[in-house]
Amino acid sequence: MTGFHQTEIAVIGAGVVGLAIAHRLARAGHEVVVLDPNPPGSGASYGNAGTIADYAVQPVGTPAVLKNLPSLLFDRMSPLTIRPAALPSLTPWLLRFAAQSLPGPARRNAQALAALLADATPRWTALAAEIDGAALMQAQGCLYLYDRPEQAAAAAADLSFRQALGIELDMLSAQELSALEPGLPPMAGGAVWFRQAQFLSDPGAMVGRLAAAAWAAGAQYQPRTVSLITRQMNGIKLTGPGLTLTARKVVIAAGAHSRQLAWMAGDAVPLDTERGYHLEWDMAEPPLTRPACPTARGFYFCPMAGRLRVAGTVELGGLTAPPSPHRLAKLLEGARAYFPDLGTPDREWMGFRPSMPDSLPVIGASRAGADVIHAYGHGHIGLTLAPVTAEIVSDLIAGRATAAAAEACRVTRF
Ligand SMILES: Cc1cc2nc3c(=O)[nH]c(=O)nc-3n(C[C@H](O)[C@H](O)[C@H](O)COP(=O)(O)OP(=O)(O)OC[C@H]3O[C@@H](n4cnc5c(N)ncnc54)[C@H](O)[C@@H]3O)c2cc1C
Repeated sequence: MTGFHQTEIAVIGAGVVGLAIAHRLARAGHEVVVLDPNPPGSGASYGNAGTIADYAVQPVGTPAVLKNLPSLLFDRMSPLTIRPAALPSLTPWLLRFAAQSLPGPARRNAQALAALLADATPRWTALAAEIDGAALMQAQGCLYLYDRPEQAAAAAADLSFRQALGIELDMLSAQELSALEPGLPPMAGGAVWFRQAQFLSDPGAMVGRLAAAAWAAGAQYQPRTVSLITRQMNGIKLTGPGLTLTARKVVIAAGAHSRQLAWMAGDAVPLDTERGYHLEWDMAEPPLTRPACPTARGFYFCPMAGRLRVAGTVELGGLTAPPSPHRLAKLLEGARAYFPDLGTPDREWMGFRPSMPDSLPVIGASRAGADVIHAYGHGHIGLTLAPVTAEIVSDLIAGRATAAAAEACRVTRF
């Protein structure tokens, strides 16, 4: 066996969440070991749409989604769908999701998300400056696009609700949108511009800088899988192939793979995954300058460094099935509906969003003791919330009071 036998804090998972936590704790002077068998930042944190989506205060489950759930789920070409083979194992999650989509819970979840997201952009700005990543942050805002005026009209209630939660937005007419993004085809319904939002021109590069900064601050990386968590008299024992490590505290930040680890630590958590996809075309100048989501299609056009990435859609399909070719074909068809000249993509990718039925992450101490801390389940906004999560976890480790927004994320809510 190589590596360490003891440490103060072990962080399981080197995605953006685990790395933001490790970086923060190492900078605060803690001894930290990060465990992950895969290269740091190579999971969901690599392939996302790159939006620091502080406007994403709506949970996935809302009354509107609930109303259309059967048709959405069982149409394999809709933006949100399910792999039929996954239905039996997903039924408990879906029942909870349906309950959380009722008006009362959906409103409460939105309020909790708004509280969590309020600090997301300033925290990312500060983190990017610390890790030499400021040049990867882009401040042009993000767009929701409406192909038809009826779509814009149907979105009015949602947008007013967001404004009531403090989100700033500008409605753009078709002409104003064309002036802002001349490379887009005409959108008869115009757009919404979340002008304050930022995005990352290269999420993989940013997570790479975060990892480098964490190692520079003293965190150690071990390329190991954690297979077993056991509480012992002298700490928490983590074991796996080539791994035996005892830590005084353990942070579970293994994204969509955290459910079994949480169970071993003493917590049953209804975590599942929403699989998402991206396609990329290499090009010197993408045809737009800020992320834009045609809302009816559930994906974003993302202008990234040297390429156009088209990322999104939701497929409930578990952690083991291979990518679905028809989902990639649907993404390609959707992209070409706006940019017919796009040829064969240079890259395709599938990743696992770590998703909770209420769209809120799990952040906080285990029921079985504060020596294990949960930090996963961020769904569609894990990139956005990584620095906020790191702040909450570091407060917990230091024994400080956590932000009020953390209350809604406790594991005891289930
Ligand atoms: C298509 C798509 C678009 C998205 N767009 C956005 C967006 O624009 N903005 C946004 O904020 N979010 C977005 N997201 C969501 C975001 O990417 C995720 O919420 C976030 O990356 C989750 O980070 P994580 O660190 O929790 O998980 P991951 O990045 O998946 O990292 C988890 C790590 O844990 C490791 N691991 C697993 N099991 C073990 C184990 N037993 N032992 C050790 N290590 C283990 C894995 O190898 C992995 O490296 C998007 C997601 C997708 C799929």
